Amino acid sequence: MPPRERRTAAVGPNEEVPVPESVERPEAVEDPRRRIPRTDLLLAHPQVARASATMSDLVVRDIVRAAQARARAGEIAPEQVLDDVRAAIGDRPSSSLRPVLNATGVIVHTNLGRAPLSAAAREAVLDAAGYTDVEFDLATGARARRGAGARAALLAACPEAEDALVVNNGAAALVLATTALAGTADVVISRGELIEIGAGFRLPDLIASAGARIHEVGTTNRTHLADYTEALGERTGCVLRIHTSNYRIIGFTSEVGIAELAEPCRAAGVPLLADLGSGLLAPDVHLPEEPDAASALRDGADLVIASGDKLLGGPQAGILLGRADVIARLARHPLARAVRADKLALAALEATLTGTAPPVIDSLHADPDQLHQRTARVAERLGGRLIPHDGRVGGGGGAEVPLPGWAVALEAELAAPLRTGDLAVVATVRDGDCLLDLRTVPPEQDDRLVAAVDSARAVLAAAGEPDRR
Ligand SMILES: *Cc1c(COP(=O)(O)O)cnc(C)c1O
Repeated sequence: MPPRERRTAAVGPNEEVPVPESVERPEAVEDPRRRIPRTDLLLAHPQVARASATMSDLVVRDIVRAAQARARAGEIAPEQVLDDVRAAIGDRPSSSLRPVLNATGVIVHTNLGRAPLSAAAREAVLDAAGYTDVEFDLATGARARRGAGARAALLAACPEAEDALVVNNGAAALVLATTALAGTADVVISRGELIEIGAGFRLPDLIASAGARIHEVGTTNRTHLADYTEALGERTGCVLRIHTSNYRIIGFTSEVGIAELAEPCRAAGVPLLADLGSGLLAPDVHLPEEPDAASALRDGADLVIASGDKLLGGPQAGILLGRADVIARLARHPLARAVRADKLALAALEATLTGTAPPVIDSLHADPDQLHQRTARVAERLGGRLIPHDGRVGGGGGAEVPLPGWAVALEAELAAPLRTGDLAVVATVRDGDCLLDLRTVPPEQDDRLVAAVDSARAVLAAAGEPDRR
């Protein structure tokens, strides 16, 4: 689906198209020139309007007139006028990835790129985009440790860790850790933690793919300390606890905490790993069930693994925190080079940790009164209903704690034109309603959200009108 065509279509046909003044009365009703977008609509298009900030109005108007003239002359189709204008002002989208307003209330939305970066992180990415001292000491002119700033920020944010390593993503961190520490030996895991996460990605398969052998212990619902200690032996490379964020076993269950496992692992000389998934570095009062790196290390884990773009609210990254000798083994392993973090991620991660709270945390901690007020105001402006709606942390894909809040309920048919409008808005369709949850919409975007709904309604109205051509 070519995005440009869609966006072009959103300008003209949504509005009634007046007969351009310079065209003689069309002899045929289906004269395509009637579809040429009006000057004022083209000038009001966000990308064209933005160009006006750096170009004189006259220049922009000339560009618009030239594109309309080409369409009148039949050199381009009326639907190509906007693209033509965009090309002329040099504001073509530089990638096919489009900005999206996430109105689902799912904070870490995997299909929408997980965590949106903070302003500081966006700035850091821009700064690091050119040449940058990622592995260079500007003071001495000598080579320096890659990503030293991100490492320092992680250690400052999680003082319980002796050292830190950043790799490409959580999966890479897991495979690097198990491969470097176990090789082809056993990775001891409770049967209840052999999970599949999004898109058919199975953690045990990933671990085994690099040569380690999975040694399951316990049963699906219950695993005891003795299950682990009996498994510890000559063949054991490491013990791994996995946080099963996307499903829950309820009823007759038992699992063994890190604090209980730490001593037997230490006695056996076997590293104890904790894959936390989510990336909380310290406990969060809003998520009492969620494990965090500081607590896991204090309880005796030798290494914790987390993602950078889940609850940490940063760029895609795999974060490894723990004992200095364990981190050193990982960093020395040949696989470390294959999974190393890129300079943009290192820059964004450091800025996420040292800057003000990232959007993920703002959404998670959204003040209920403010959220209610905003939602009520948007509902009123749009003539929608204000209904209770639970947000989610997301990122795991399932059984998680609801985040009570509200949504604006609108007509369900709006969902499709909202997605394909000039500003893509992703909503939830449920029980015949199109729901907008503002928890994941930055408050300064409320006006744009309202405008997007107005445009989507105009698209529906135009589509519903009898064909005038
Ligand atoms: C998300 C997750 C991963 C994978 O992390 P990515 O950053 O997506 O590669 C691994 N383990 C657990 C427990 C997770 O939740």
